[in-house]
Amino acid sequence: MFDIQNIRSQFPILSQKVNGKDLVYLDNAATSQKPMSVLKSWEKYYSEINANVHRGIHTLSQLATEEMEVSRRKVQKFINAKNDFEVIFTKGTTEGINLIAYAITNLIKKDDEIIISYLEHHSNIVPWQMLCERTGAKLKVIPMDENGILQLDFLDKNLSEKTKIVSVNQVSNALGVINSIEEIIAKTRANSDAMIVIDGAQSVPHFKIDVQKMDCDFFVFSGHKIYAPMGTGILYGKEEILRKIQPFHGGGEMIATCSFEKTTYADLPFKFEAGTPNVGGNIALGAAIDFMDQIGQSNIQSHESALLDYAQKKLLEIEGLKIYGEKANRTGVVSFNLEGIGIASDVGMILDKLGIAVRTGHHCTQPIMEFFNIAGTVRASFAVYNTMEEIDILVEGVKKAQRMLS
Ligand code: PMP
Repeated sequence: MFDIQNIRSQFPILSQKVNGKDLVYLDNAATSQKPMSVLKSWEKYYSEINANVHRGIHTLSQLATEEMEVSRRKVQKFINAKNDFEVIFTKGTTEGINLIAYAITNLIKKDDEIIISYLEHHSNIVPWQMLCERTGAKLKVIPMDENGILQLDFLDKNLSEKTKIVSVNQVSNALGVINSIEEIIAKTRANSDAMIVIDGAQSVPHFKIDVQKMDCDFFVFSGHKIYAPMGTGILYGKEEILRKIQPFHGGGEMIATCSFEKTTYADLPFKFEAGTPNVGGNIALGAAIDFMDQIGQSNIQSHESALLDYAQKKLLEIEGLKIYGEKANRTGVVSFNLEGIGIASDVGMILDKLGIAVRTGHHCTQPIMEFFNIAGTVRASFAVYNTMEEIDILVEGVKKAQRMLS
């Protein structure tokens, strides 16, 4: 049974007042709130277990190691990775993509090609530009249409033996549009030997992920967008590729042997986990996955899609409101502007006074904003604890902002 009040009661922050009003938190694409089970897991780690992992013979160190490895296996199951050592703990999506872009450097030659899409977050643009600068490779961009739909015939013309990486997000954080990654992966496999990277930062919160079925080579996401603490994230990589590529950071934990003459690297996953990890955060990420599993992925998905449908319908009733991006095939996010009101943050500020938290601006996707010739949008984004009543409050808030600003 999906009991929204029970779910909400697990999030202490949601009962807060902001600017004297009940908090309506609709900035979930930026970060989600945390349930008690995650907060308790974090607290328990620091109050009862805190010790460094993988090195200690003492009891607490062994306990910390065990709990973190249990969490790794929860993530493995959550995304259906074949092996637990294909799951690498990171700080988040950004670190995951930078790790890949650095680790493959010596496999990339001058004039090789890297394909990304118009819909990418800056963290799936800049690391590839930096790789191009290091190697002389070229960056190519899958174009999109007025609805934010990627024009995949571009792949038919541009995939070749030169293509070394195709890196796209599964869901756009700025528009919420769901990309056809099945088609992108099928075309890439058919026409090149490129490695496929999927940025799952905005898909993991909303639907079931199966990396084996998807047949991507890498899949990255952030823990903090799925109810886990900030500073947590996952890089999944296929075993054969992870074995082939270079480590990202050098240091403790990631070596097998170290001498001044030569260092050999540790086995997977530790080869990519240099230094002391975010043990408490990584364990709490496991608690966040338990939280989602308890509700059930299909319940989460159907509740959030009902919220999105309702939000789009009610917002579109406002005269002069424009929603960006394809409306029929999206998840989690509605991005809009009001006609005649050029500055999205003015709307955001009025909503904030009403206790409503939304994001305004370019959402780390400046190329998308340039495409639409706007400085930014107002973005409302949903999580499992949001309600239809909150959408009504948002819609009334937007109407009020429109009256005040026009
Ligand atoms: N990619 C997408 C699609 C995102 O939405 C985000 C976060 N807004 C990121 C990457 C970067 O995630 P993080 O800041 O957690 O590393």
